[in-house]
Amino acid sequence: MNLIFLGPPGAGKGTHAQLLMRDLGIPQISTGDMLRQAMKDGTPLGLSAKAYVEKGELVPDEVVIGIVKERLQAPDCQKGYILDGFPRTVKQAEALAQFAKIDVVLNLALSDEIIINRLSGRRVCLKCGATYHISALNGREDCEKCGDKLVQRKDDSAETIQNRLNVYAAQTAPLIDYYQEKGLLRTVKCESTVEENYRAVRRALELA
Ligand code: ADP
Ligand code: ZN
Repeated sequence: MNLIFLGPPGAGKGTHAQLLMRDLGIPQISTGDMLRQAMKDGTPLGLSAKAYVEKGELVPDEVVIGIVKERLQAPDCQKGYILDGFPRTVKQAEALAQFAKIDVVLNLALSDEIIINRLSGRRVCLKCGATYHISALNGREDCEKCGDKLVQRKDDSAETIQNRLNVYAAQTAPLIDYYQEKGLLRTVKCESTVEENYRAVRRALELA
């Protein structure tokens, strides 16, 4: 199954993609994680992406299209994959259609108020990609999965969050109509707990 997770920042794309990866054995392909890893490693890709990512702007289409196209050729994508955070513009979606056949687009929906609460309290592990909310950490500072130190993403600051919401509304939300017209869209409301939201995701995929 070739899936796309669409939704505003903080919708839980990464969290649910990781759960599905575990349950279906197909890889999560997160352009955000790939860009952050490249930034951490200081590669040319990372250096060119840094300014955009930290301001909450989109990295140029050609750049992300290139990394996804290459990634999808890897052997582990043969049986399916979960695209998390890509495509984010109509141009990216059109490019994707040239080299991939998508089965389902899951649209994770939630209010701006919940988004802001989630993002401002989010802590992430840069090593394994796990994310946490401070309300559930009870003061813990390291990743439960791999032990690495948790950090707050630079783009999870209050003003950058607002910018990302604006960028989402202007550039990414049009993909809802785009995929609706193609008959691929399924909308899942994601305002509850992770467990509850994940059950809704599974129902939408008819995994029961
Ligand atoms: P979130 O969904 O929480 O905003 P991501 O980890 O998906 O976070 O993305 C973080 C940042 O990485 C984005 O704000 C953007 O700068 C960059 N990015 C990720 N995916 C894309 C993409 N498909 N196109 C352009 N920029 C991207
Ligand atoms: Zn970790």
